[in-house]
Amino acid sequence: MKWYLIFLFGSLAVSIGIQMVLPFPYGLVVALALFIAFPLLIRRRYMNRMRGGGSESAGGGFFGLGSRQGTTGVKYVCLVCSNKFKGGSCPRCGSKMKRADF
Ligand SMILES: [Zn+2]
Repeated sequence: MKWYLIFLFGSLAVSIGIQMVLPFPYGLVVALALFIAFPLLIRRRYMNRMRGGGSESAGGGFFGLGSRQGTTGVKYVCLVCSNKFKGGSCPRCGSKMKRADF
C-alpha cells in the first residue's frame, strides 16, 4: 500500500499549499474536501483496474508488476569505458565487465 501513502502525503502537501494560498475558511474547506475526495478517487480508479484484470490476485499482480519494472529498469555501467547500457555486454567497447547502476 505504498502508493496509497504517497498519495496521502501528496494530498496533505497540496492541502497545506491551498491553505497558504486561500484565506482561512475557504482554504480549510477546500483542503478537507481534497483530503477526503482524493483517496476516494484513487481507490475507485484502483478498484476499476482490479475489476479489469482478475480480482483476488490483484495484490500479487501489483507486486509482480513492481518487481518486473525493477528488473527491466536495471542498467549497467561498463567498468572499462563507464558507458551506461542494458543487456549483456557493453555496446561501445564489447566488454562484459560491468556493475549494476540503480
Ligand atoms: Zn564499455
